[in-house]
Amino acid sequence: KLFNEVQELKGNIRVYCRIRPFLPGQREKQSIVEHIGESDLHVVNPSKQGKDALKSFKFNKIFSPASTQVEVYSDIQPFIRSVLDGYNVCIFAYGQTGSGKTYTMSGPTGATGEEIGVNYRALNDLFSISTNRTNSIEYVIGVQMVEIYNEQVRDLLSSDASTKKYPFSTTFYSLFFPKGLAVPDATMYPVKSPSDVIMLMDIGLKNRAISATAMNERSSRSHSVVSIQVQGKDLNSGSTLFGNLHLVDLAGSERVDRSEVTGDRLKEAQHINKSLSALGDVIFALSQKSSHVPYRNSKLTQLLQTSLGGQAKTLMFVQINSDTNSFSESLSTLKFAERVS
Ligand code: ADP
Ligand code: MG
Repeated sequence: KLFNEVQELKGNIRVYCRIRPFLPGQREKQSIVEHIGESDLHVVNPSKQGKDALKSFKFNKIFSPASTQVEVYSDIQPFIRSVLDGYNVCIFAYGQTGSGKTYTMSGPTGATGEEIGVNYRALNDLFSISTNRTNSIEYVIGVQMVEIYNEQVRDLLSSDASTKKYPFSTTFYSLFFPKGLAVPDATMYPVKSPSDVIMLMDIGLKNRAISATAMNERSSRSHSVVSIQVQGKDLNSGSTLFGNLHLVDLAGSERVDRSEVTGDRLKEAQHINKSLSALGDVIFALSQKSSHVPYRNSKLTQLLQTSLGGQAKTLMFVQINSDTNSFSESLSTLKFAERVS
């Protein structure tokens, strides 16, 4: 049943909007959100009056500030399961810095228990389902982790330094994935349990953090991509299936004021702008079933090409900070999402 649900998705693209709660100490703030329905969202422009102030949007689903990580995950679980049946799935989090992208994808820093995000839940599920099927299908699972910063791809699990501690050989893996790696050139590590994955993600996050301090909070200005590749061998027929899952925490979508930034900061902003609009263009083309999909306009869309379009399933979380001060950023986020949904 879950599988049918996944196949019925319109154009294989789904857009979910999640509204971040106000944080402790922020309680007295005003919200721009006037109404949250199952799939309708009404927001109010704080600088306008009456009818002119109201804007409404429609998405596949709206998650209110009270929605939990468990609720959010239960709506994407069918996608994750379909990876084990040989589908490619991409899940993105889009929004301005501070809107909850990392919270949705990974959870808060050092999250445990109920607070863990989509990526840990997805991997736990992949392992528990694949283990249950061991009588019929034998699965092999590999993980890669990269970041894209200024249109350059950096391997967060490269074999230098920190990953040396990880006790698996990678050469073994090229034998298991003859169709090539999901992200060419990036190190792929085999994983056998959720704890292997947690260990690798910690290494990746640390590698990302090292550059973040050196380069002034770079993490909000780079895209991070966790790619999970699955090979399943049917023990009865001998046939093999491949599926992959990309979990993408995008760079902050906030626009920078060109009159205020120069040099490196301006260059970063231009790269982010370019890659996010390239992503929007690709998803838009796919949602229109257009014959030309402009994958080549950014590193991000090139890297994800095989998992965007065709039989692949795409899911975008648009994250909103409902504080009135963020109204114009929230509006541009909602408009971006409206175009692709
Ligand atoms: P982003 O990655 O978009 O910059 P974060 O995920 O880091 O934003 O979120 C900003 C802050 O808000 C963090 O302290 C995070 O823990 C908190 N936060 C975000 N979403 C939620 C939520 N749904 N519930 C509770 N806290 C949240
Ligand atoms: Mg973040």
